[in-house]
Amino acid sequence: MPDQNRIQPQPGIMDIALYQGGAAHVDGVENVIKLSSNENPYGASEKARDAAIRAAHQMHRYPNTDHADLRAAIGELHGIDPDQIICGVGSDEVLQFAAQCFAGVGDEVIMTEHGFSMYPILTRSVGATPVVVPEQERRVDIQAILGAVTERTRIVFLTNPGNPTGTMLDDEDLHRLAKGLPPSVLLVHDGAYSEFVAEDVRHDFELVAAYPNVLATRTFSKIYGLGGLRIGWGHANRDLIDVMNRVRQPFNLSVVQLAAAEAAIRDQAHVSRCRSENAKMRAWLRNALTDLGIGCDESHANFVLARFADAATADACDAALKADGLIVRKAAGYGLPHCLRITIGDEPSCRRVAHVIGRFISEGAQS
Ligand SMILES: *Cc1c(COP(=O)(O)O)cnc(C)c1O
Repeated sequence: MPDQNRIQPQPGIMDIALYQGGAAHVDGVENVIKLSSNENPYGASEKARDAAIRAAHQMHRYPNTDHADLRAAIGELHGIDPDQIICGVGSDEVLQFAAQCFAGVGDEVIMTEHGFSMYPILTRSVGATPVVVPEQERRVDIQAILGAVTERTRIVFLTNPGNPTGTMLDDEDLHRLAKGLPPSVLLVHDGAYSEFVAEDVRHDFELVAAYPNVLATRTFSKIYGLGGLRIGWGHANRDLIDVMNRVRQPFNLSVVQLAAAEAAIRDQAHVSRCRSENAKMRAWLRNALTDLGIGCDESHANFVLARFADAATADACDAALKADGLIVRKAAGYGLPHCLRITIGDEPSCRRVAHVIGRFISEGAQS
């Protein structure tokens, strides 16, 4: 019996575990380098920053509600229809629109073993049940996803490239998944790291073109270096966009967010520089780690996942990095307690990480 004398939260809400962000401070250590939240070490485009400052002069005005200019700029860059785009407060908000519009009490939402920690939070927030399927050696298993579908399934959340694994599905797997799902199930392709793969990667947009039940999300938080401003977007067929626009607050994006995002999209030179620096240092760091005997899959994103012998070793290495002012992300919350996720920083940061881990390994070998 619900207690008549108390306010009762909606079903599922008290089952939500609070989101754990990447740490930013180490007590007693100065000059820390934060490599725990996959932020862009080179920052945002100067053009985006200038646009944000100019837009601040308009902060007494309400922003426009349809985001037409930003959607046009995104559409032009990617060759997609602006009417098939919805913008949100980070891609997290677009993921929230999807959960809110398409799942509810009694429904199931599928996510993978090492998937993004927002998916269970969003699923529970609408009273639906998260169904977590295993991955194969840190790779998404299409057969496991398809095997978990029931008549209650409403959404499948997929991160590609994966976070924290960095692994990526090929086109054939993506189409096998999209084809295999009932047309009544929404497939969310979360492409938070897509821009790190290649300049022209568009496997997610091709899925949207081919299947009416796919939503592709992208973000300004990662390669664009605008995580602090909170802007993301989704691409899907017009029917899905129309549904989600009904729950979107009319003024969800501020004048500053809109101006910065549009300027950022138009500065692809900055994006290209960040992509190539990231690819170079990612390969360098992976090599350095594997030379030290640390397992590390090929990553397609802006981080690598370092695998240690066991959770205790990963924790000890995390402590050694912290003592040196290097903050990385423990992956226990992602079902990978023996792993550390390390964001690719600039070259000095990557060298410092490799140096400290090298020292940690050699000290362990001596004791
Ligand atoms: C960082 C990240 C996002 C982006 O979140 P924003 O709300 O756009 O900042 C989405 N999905 C995954 C898997 C991420 O790692």
